[in-house]
Amino acid sequence: MENTNPVLLEVKNLKKYFPMQRGVFKRVVGHVRSVDGISFFIRQGETLGLVGESGCGKTTTGRLILRAMEPTAGEVFYRYQDQMVELTKVKRPQMKPYRREMQIIFQDPYSSLNPRMTVLDLIAEPLKIHGVSSGDELKTRVRELLELVGMRVQHMNRYPYAFSGGQRQRIGIARALALNPKFIVCDEPVSALDVSIQAQVVNLLRDLQKNFSLTYLFISHDLSVVEHISDRVAVMYLGSIVELAPSEALYAGPRHPYTEALLSAVPSVNPDLGMKRILLPGDVPSPSNPPSGCKFHPRCRYARDICTAQFPEWREVSPDHWVACHLSDELQLAGMAS
Ligand code: SF4
Repeated sequence: MENTNPVLLEVKNLKKYFPMQRGVFKRVVGHVRSVDGISFFIRQGETLGLVGESGCGKTTTGRLILRAMEPTAGEVFYRYQDQMVELTKVKRPQMKPYRREMQIIFQDPYSSLNPRMTVLDLIAEPLKIHGVSSGDELKTRVRELLELVGMRVQHMNRYPYAFSGGQRQRIGIARALALNPKFIVCDEPVSALDVSIQAQVVNLLRDLQKNFSLTYLFISHDLSVVEHISDRVAVMYLGSIVELAPSEALYAGPRHPYTEALLSAVPSVNPDLGMKRILLPGDVPSPSNPPSGCKFHPRCRYARDICTAQFPEWREVSPDHWVACHLSDELQLAGMAS
């Protein structure tokens, strides 16, 4: 069903360039364009999947949104008390009310939890920092949160080492939920887990979203994971978004050759249809010196002269389906419905 809720988060032409320094005087000799002018929005209650190979800028995007780092250019807007606030203009000390509503679930449940803190302390920490509750009330809230994520209350006084990867990720989720957030960046939340546990954690995230009207930016390199949770999916390559579409449309009929190649590597994309794995030649080019024209052209099996000369326009090829490819109208790319 189409989500017609108001936009909760909007990103406009967001860029993050990291300087490359050399020599004793740390002269700047270039920039790594980690995020290179991306724009998108997420509606309330929606999940936007953000996929791409490692190093494409997905995690940096999540951090920029949460102001864990400052952008080089561009804007991030967040709906707070029914007003769109330009977060990128808010002074750091004034970020606290927004931080309360915007949380993150990290990729690695082994390193994201302080091994010297008990589960009680880990989950209570954000509540203490924001002065939300203390004493018995705090313990009650931690108990509630543990139950919400399917953990036992008796686990409260144990340390992270006593738990499996899946349980640790549940603790990380409880911690992210502690302040009743509205928006959560899920940064590869299941990548470090066994396949058998991944589905449980994804289902938990879906249930929590339904029960608490949460909005997610779900970052993953794995299209098969993203498929099960995302309403729309954005595909990122070398710092740029190359395709963005409703989940079903993207999986059934990708319009960008990079999305087609990613989909061909997903075993669950209907093996009966015999979609052949498309092997991309070469490595991902350096983001400090991206190729001219379409950044994907050195690895694209359909590339023509225009692809090396001109940056492809970002355009809507069907309702809500956006793509940056010169040839998207003429290529017949393989997807689940092909
Ligand atoms: Fe390939 Fe050209 Fe499309 Fe880029 S613009 S994805 S090189 S066909």
